[in-house]
Formats: sequence, structure tokens, C-alpha cells
Amino acid sequence: MVDASLPNLNRSRNGYTFTALSLLVLSCSKPDVSGPVTIMAVTSQAGHCQYQIEAVELKTLKSLNQFKGSLGQVVYSPTEITNDNLVEENLYQSLPVSFAEQDGIYFPLDLKTWIASSLYAAMETTYSLTQSIDPSFDMVTKVANHSETRLVYNAKVQADDGVSISDNASYVRISSSETNYEKLNFLISYPTLETKNLPIGLNLGIFAHEYTHMIFSYQFYDAKSELGLEFNEADGTVNTIDALDEGMSDIFAFYAIQDPNFFHCSFPGDHRDMSKTRSFETSVPRNRAASFDPHEDGAVWASIQYRIGSAIGHPVNGKSLLSLMKSLPSCLASNKVISADFKKVAACHLEQLSGTARAQARTVYNQSLGVYGNLP
Ligand SMILES: [Zn+2]
Repeated sequence: MVDASLPNLNRSRNGYTFTALSLLVLSCSKPDVSGPVTIMAVTSQAGHCQYQIEAVELKTLKSLNQFKGSLGQVVYSPTEITNDNLVEENLYQSLPVSFAEQDGIYFPLDLKTWIASSLYAAMETTYSLTQSIDPSFDMVTKVANHSETRLVYNAKVQADDGVSISDNASYVRISSSETNYEKLNFLISYPTLETKNLPIGLNLGIFAHEYTHMIFSYQFYDAKSELGLEFNEADGTVNTIDALDEGMSDIFAFYAIQDPNFFHCSFPGDHRDMSKTRSFETSVPRNRAASFDPHEDGAVWASIQYRIGSAIGHPVNGKSLLSLMKSLPSCLASNKVISADFKKVAACHLEQLSGTARAQARTVYNQSLGVYGNLP
């Protein structure tokens, strides 16, 4: 877009400038490279907050210059993002990236190219994670326009109250009524400037957390709308499902990074360590509008899943949670209305397990459900 507007701007002023600029643009443009591309990226290692720079093969990349592939595109927005302008066609631009190449390996030459390559590598890692848990589960077949997913680098985002958010990451799904695209997904990495520890754009756990929100949306919410179900708005169901969404995102982030305290690497003050034994000490508020942080109850759910996985095997539990996301709306519904609390969700989860694994999961639930009471 910038390249196209420059010649027009200068043509009206001075023919020589037009010619010189055109030559400059041509001489700066590098031939594009299609995947698989081997690139140096920041990746996680076993252990807590352990990262390294290593050569990674990006199998699904279609254009290195545009950082675009069959899983999405790394883009940036020169202006602040709000709920209203999120889907504006010209808001996003491809990230200007800079590489050197030697012996078939591409080396990022600046910070944003490091983060872009690491974000795309995190996307490939998280995408293939679900297939390693369940070979029949493929997000590319579930998300028809997965390649249109936008990984927004270094976004400045305006919250509903007008305050700019600086340290965060988010997943946003736009439904077909709001855009020309059938359904459009955004994985947004906010600025990393104020994060003193690991920048969130490089924290694989945070990326996997956001991507799991996308999985939950396509599993749970698509099943809910396909069945024409509604939430009970008066009994805490919405708060429970929001917290469950956060807890699922935390435990799948653990599967991706194998560090139950990955959150701490970017936000040292938070209490999201899944390996700490926790139980529900208070129930979620009944009122949807009540001030409620779903991450808190979500962290309890994630710590319970960490304990269940430690007993029955994390891949076994992960597979059962993937199918739980899809089966949950019908499991919880009665007369087309979904009514949820964590005990009901736990009972639905046990239906996805069998034999010893089911018995062990029941034991963990009965030690952890707290205010919700024991399962039969
Ligand atoms: Zn989240």
C-alpha cells in the first residue's frame, strides 16, 4: 500500500522524484521465499523460563517477505486498534522484515523480525500440538479461513473504556455478520515495552493460551450454536464458561511449553502456577455483570487438570479435554438451556474418560471441587 501511494504523490510534484523512488523500491525489494523455510527463531526449552535461539523449519509459510502462510499472517497496525475498527480492511500492514541468508538459513536482522519469526514458529508448534494429542483433530479443517488469521505484532489496543492497553495478549473472533470474511480470527500480541521479563510475543505459553481460546470457540461455541442452545443467564453459567475457557487455555499452554508456571516468565506477580494444588474456595457469582475475573477460577480449573494429567498422563487428559469442549453444550443442556457449574462440567469430563483414568480423575475432582461438593 505504501509502495503504490508514493509514486502518485510524487508524480504531481516532480517526475525525477517519481523515477528515483521507483528505482529505490525496486532495488530494495528482495525475491520472495516460499516455505518450508529454515529460520532462526526464539523457541522454548525444557525447564522454567528457558528459551533459546535455534534454526526452525517453518513448514506452512507461503511468503517470507509478508510472513504469511496457511496458518495466518504476522501483521501490524500503525494506528490504535479498537473494537470498532478491528476489521477495517486497511488497518493492518505486513510487517517490514529484514533477513540475511546463509547456507539456506534465514537470520532475522532486527527485533521485530525475530518476534515475527518466533510468533509464526509458535503458531506452527501450537497448531501441531493438538494433532499430537489427537491425530484426528485438525484446526485447518475446522477453521475454513485459518490462513486469514492475523497475528498482530506489537498492537496498541484501546479498551472499551477508552484506556490503551499495553501489556496483554488476546484472541478475538469476528462473526460472519461483522465482516466480509466468513469468520475471522485475530491473535493479538500487545506491546512488549513495559514487560520487564520475557516479552509476551516470545512466550510460547502465552501464544498457546490465546490459540486455545480459538480452539474453544470452534469446539464449544460452534457446537452450542449448531444445537441452538442458550445460556441460563441467572445461575452463574456464563461466568463458569468464561472461567472454563481461561482454564482450558492455561492447561493447553502447559501442554505446549511443559512449564506449569510459564505465565510467571512474563508476569512475575501473577498466581497462575498450575503445579500448586488448589480447590474452589468460592463459587462464581450468579450475575453476569458482577465484577469477576475468569482467570482466577480458570487457574483453579487448570491446576485440577494438571493433577489429573499427572495421574493419568497429560496426553490422555488433553485428548479427553478436546472432546469435552465439543460435547459439553449437549452434556449440560436441558430443554435447550445450558446450565453450568464446575461440578456439572467435571461430571461431563468423566464421561470422556474410562476405566482407571476415570476413577483417578474422579478422586482428584472430589479433592478439589470444594464449594461445589463431591461427585457421586
Ligand atoms: Zn485468556
